[in-house]
Amino acid sequence: MVSPHRKTATSVKRFWRLGSVLVLGLVTSHASAVELCHVANAGWLIKGNNASVVIDGLMQEDQYEGRFALPSEKMLGDMIDKTGLFEDLTYVLSTHRHGDHFDPKATIRQIRNTSGVHYGVPADAIATLAANGLTEVELERVTAIADGPQSTFDKDGVVVQTFDVDHGPNQPQNVGYRVTVDGVSFFHTGDINTSRAQLASAGINSLPVNALIMPFWYGFQNPEQRAAIDASWDYETVVLTHFNPEPQPWMQRFGGMDGVQASIKESFEKALVVTEEGKCASID
Ligand SMILES: [Zn+2]
Repeated sequence: MVSPHRKTATSVKRFWRLGSVLVLGLVTSHASAVELCHVANAGWLIKGNNASVVIDGLMQEDQYEGRFALPSEKMLGDMIDKTGLFEDLTYVLSTHRHGDHFDPKATIRQIRNTSGVHYGVPADAIATLAANGLTEVELERVTAIADGPQSTFDKDGVVVQTFDVDHGPNQPQNVGYRVTVDGVSFFHTGDINTSRAQLASAGINSLPVNALIMPFWYGFQNPEQRAAIDASWDYETVVLTHFNPEPQPWMQRFGGMDGVQASIKESFEKALVVTEEGKCASID
């Protein structure tokens, strides 16, 4: 089920207070819906009942002259302090070290300001963290993901599986994350620009996921890439992301940003486009 709506921490609490009265005794082993909330650019919060995960959302510095959105001061503050939507934050994951997905300064700031949060970054981002002053002790909270092999780690009931997803020639290491929270699974591809053969060699074959989170340009007007998506993931909902705040010149021939988004939505059975900060959808 997909139903975009705005949700604040207060309304979540109110819901659970009400819910605990109404559904007492009706708890089953079925997976409950998990909230997927937009942070900025390709950044998302996966919010379960007791644990949550940020992927590519912890950023404070603009590296691209406004071409990509950053979280607002308020949202960044909540992330740094583990408050509001982020109070149960368990993991912060980064797909790759490009400045619109990963911010070493914001990462170190959060590490120093919180406890209980663990980090996953591609191995080639460790040097960036070290160059920005990450200490040996702080490094213990960071898992460096090797380029190539699959890996799995877990904490607070959240399971993270990592896969090698190529960003394309002459680009940094890019990690695809399959995250399972409360029985609902998400796959964030990062900046995917690769072939079916590469994904197959990385072990991504009909991989079941409730929601596949992917930059909107992969598979757009490209049958070969679209076939790679359909063979690589057994997905229910596709979440298209990484939209620029301003429409790009090439979008004009599709009727601007709205036209591009409409065309993408049409091409998938269940597609979700959420660009507004803090807006959430229920995924199950
Ligand atoms: Zn990138």
